[in-house]
Amino acid sequence: MTGPRKMPTPKAVVEHWEPWLIYVGKFDEPGELLSELDGSTGVCFACGWRRSLERAHIVARLHGGSDNVDNIHLLCGHCHHESEFKEGNDYWYWFLRQNCYTSVIKMATTHRPQLIAELATYRPDVLAAWLNPRSYSSQAAEQR
Ligand SMILES: [Zn+2]
Repeated sequence: MTGPRKMPTPKAVVEHWEPWLIYVGKFDEPGELLSELDGSTGVCFACGWRRSLERAHIVARLHGGSDNVDNIHLLCGHCHHESEFKEGNDYWYWFLRQNCYTSVIKMATTHRPQLIAELATYRPDVLAAWLNPRSYSSQAAEQR
């Protein structure tokens, strides 16, 4: 390794990724992510919660990933930890499915399993929508 690491600023990471994040349906409005950014606090690219953010490598440095803006996502500590050992398609699959609901459901599965069991019994449609936001948004679009 030569020279000091030069990581992009959180603002540079948001500016690079925002158009794509809107394109894939992660966020709605241009400027939404930038307006939420305050130092290193902002909206996690993966789960959408407003938290203290970490600059996470998409391809790990260990596997030759660079410090360039196109290899960095801003993730909350929870998502960063979860994504740590995901590589290639596994990462992107996880990333696109991850949202505030999946994040809540994972926590609830651990801490409130009864709640998830009740939801699965009485409102399986709601649980399914939470776990698969894409099918939910296409249903919502059809109802409009
Ligand atoms: Zn997150």
